[in-house]
Amino acid sequence: MPVLSVLHYSTRTVKTMYLKICDFARSLGCEAVENEPMKKHISFKLGGNARAFIEPNSEENLLKILKECKALGLHYAVIGNGSNLLVRDEGFEGVVIHLGSAFGKMKLIGEDIIWCEAGANLMKVCNFALEHALTGLEFAYGIPGSAGGAAYMNAGAYGGEMKDVLYECTHIDSALQPGALGGDALKLSYRHSAYCDNGAVITGLRMQLQKGDKAAIKAKMDELYGRRKAKQPLEYPSAGSTFKRPEGYFAGKLIEDAGLKGARVGGAAVSEKHAGFVVNLGGATCADVLALCESVNETVKKQFGVGLEREVKILE
Ligand SMILES: Cc1cc2nc3c(=O)[nH]c(=O)nc-3n(C[C@H](O)[C@H](O)[C@H](O)COP(=O)(O)OP(=O)(O)OC[C@H]3O[C@@H](n4cnc5c(N)ncnc54)[C@H](O)[C@@H]3O)c2cc1C
Repeated sequence: MPVLSVLHYSTRTVKTMYLKICDFARSLGCEAVENEPMKKHISFKLGGNARAFIEPNSEENLLKILKECKALGLHYAVIGNGSNLLVRDEGFEGVVIHLGSAFGKMKLIGEDIIWCEAGANLMKVCNFALEHALTGLEFAYGIPGSAGGAAYMNAGAYGGEMKDVLYECTHIDSALQPGALGGDALKLSYRHSAYCDNGAVITGLRMQLQKGDKAAIKAKMDELYGRRKAKQPLEYPSAGSTFKRPEGYFAGKLIEDAGLKGARVGGAAVSEKHAGFVVNLGGATCADVLALCESVNETVKKQFGVGLEREVKILE
């Protein structure tokens, strides 16, 4: 979400601007801190500090904060649960806006539509669906993201994806106007949505589900969660599958067949349990992870002629 560059200001002026944006956010009753370690906020548990870290407490205040960032010429980026993110070791030169529990409301519309705010925890949304005996979101049970992050990424698993249920998102666009996208305009495809390209902040989601059998929904969720626990290295920090699935292949299988299980750069390693995951064994830097990804990609390309594209995003 690029805005005016602050590079042409002196270091002291830039510092003052981060102070100002934090003071402004606090004056609205929002949490705001300077130089916040981002390893506290991303599931990979690595990377440097954000110059400012703000948790808006309402959509109205989110808009005010975005406007103030723009007025001060500060770059900003929005995050949800940070479960698909890397932050560079030198930190993030901008304002991180975290949509968390203050954006966690959800409700049932009619019989089978769930509306939720972008910061709602996806697991809680799945449990809400279960509570109302609504089927369609079982695939998402266990994805550790926010609803907004899941819409942005078109998150998916076990044959399902957000595309199957998501039919509208509300947002604040890059010109800071409230708006919405629905249907085909969401451009949902494999781990991609229109939001990957348009710089808007997703504020809410509408999902069409179907009436189902509560016991069957619960059984499916439990089964899929069990499969995750059995197959994924959940004991280590990671961002889930590191690479996208190349057409006609599985990234994890290619990596395993290339003999790369356990390959390491610094504290980053290809998981022994699931080769599709790069994990932080402790003390990994962002540079370690990126170097390992590069080397995995090169080896797989050399051996099988297939390129691997990173699924995990860098906060920029
Ligand atoms: C153990 C583990 C298992 C995982 N399993 C899966 C899986 O099965 N399937 C799958 O698809 N993913 C999986 N993931 C990855 C991740 O959970 C998903 O991509 C999730 O949808 C990311 O949501 P988030 O809120 O954490 O997004 P973040 O990591 O916070 O952000 C991801 C991207 O979305 C953008 N973004 C976030 N919120 C907004 C918003 N409100 N408006 C605009 N942009 C926004 C961010 O700027 C960033 O570019 C897994 C991760 C882990 C750690």
